[in-house]
Amino acid sequence: TQSLAELDPEVAQRIDAELARQQRGLEMIASENHTAQAVMQAQGSVLTNKYAEGYPGRRYYGGCEEVDVIETLAIERVKELFGAKFANVQPHSGAQANASVYHALVRPGDTVLGLNLAHGGHLTHGMKINFSGRLFNIVPYGVDEETNLVDMDEVERLAIEHQPKMIVAGWSAYPRQLDFARFRAIADKVGAYLFVDMAHFAGLVATGLHPSPVPHAHVVTSTTHKTLAGPRGGIILSNDAEIAKKLNSAVFPGQQGGPLEHVIAGKAVAFKIAASAEFKERQQRTLAGARILAERLTQADVAAKGISVLTGGTDVHLVLVDLRNSELDGQQAEDLLAQVEITVNRNSVPFDPRPPMTTSGLRIGTPALATRGFSEEAFAEVAEIIAQTLIAWAEGDIGALPELKARVLELAAAHPLYPNLKKIGE
Ligand code: PLP
Repeated sequence: TQSLAELDPEVAQRIDAELARQQRGLEMIASENHTAQAVMQAQGSVLTNKYAEGYPGRRYYGGCEEVDVIETLAIERVKELFGAKFANVQPHSGAQANASVYHALVRPGDTVLGLNLAHGGHLTHGMKINFSGRLFNIVPYGVDEETNLVDMDEVERLAIEHQPKMIVAGWSAYPRQLDFARFRAIADKVGAYLFVDMAHFAGLVATGLHPSPVPHAHVVTSTTHKTLAGPRGGIILSNDAEIAKKLNSAVFPGQQGGPLEHVIAGKAVAFKIAASAEFKERQQRTLAGARILAERLTQADVAAKGISVLTGGTDVHLVLVDLRNSELDGQQAEDLLAQVEITVNRNSVPFDPRPPMTTSGLRIGTPALATRGFSEEAFAEVAEIIAQTLIAWAEGDIGALPELKARVLELAAAHPLYPNLKKIGE
């Protein structure tokens, strides 16, 4: 019956400090968001106590009548949201959703095509020391050196040459849209499954602001915590009954034991929010914010410092800043923006001459700020601050940083985050 603050002040204080950190600065990590308080309420509930191995109506434990209703709500809502016939809402994370797809559709040693990690792919798309790279014969495809766009002719050439069992399409760091119809045509040509990982852009797909992979792919996975703005977790969608059966047994008992029903309840709430008009408007601001940022960072004063934007712009919720021609590296740029209370992450860019711990890129995303209510004017101010911060570094004028930080703190204060969320220590 003791509160967290009484029982464990060390943890309670750090949670409060993290809330203060999120409120104080601006979160621009492209894979992050600020989930709804209602989602956190569901996640912090007694559902965490419940074992529910199996699926609604077919459990291996008693007492599942309430969680059955909740999980069914989550399944029905996500099917409706994405227009899919089948859904599994149990994957604990995006990586586990992806592991389940490999488990269901390919066997160790099979050939799989995936986007090169260094060109924007995810670890689970074939990175050497990830399970995907260790268990499967991964043939990476990449982007064109001139355009920095996924080279579909190369994908087709590699598919014909290597005859993969599965082709993975999706990305963690890519500022443009993929051609799902062309991917499917290539997969059909060589008899491969098409697996689309829409983790990053699922919120845009849910609101019709990005083409949907669901009609094209044999299977689609997503995380639920990025643009989708739900709790941390994964989902799997399919329109094929046979494949859906394999996916269900790949998740449980293939990859996981008991599902996290408290997180699944949070997913159900997030899917309800994602179907609202307010959520669509938020995703529109997310896209507008990224475009405004890309436009500012391609202006002459930034270009003069050797800094540019990969592909010259963006169609999604993020911008990749290209620092290959700048003395500023990704690590330094990440630290520099942290000094003005803007949180971003460094990221390799294609054909990056710097090592992965340093990198020549910055990935900057707008979903969390859009959730925080940023208008286009507010995004223009953030873009200006980021541009001026990078320019100040290039000119050796770090004396400019305190004023830039003050502008960030002012923007943050004007967009209150979780204003009525009680501190745990209080
Ligand atoms: N797939 C893609 C495309 C991602 O970008 C990520 C996370 O960054 C994942 C999967 C993995 O998600 P998680 O971190 O929940 O395992």
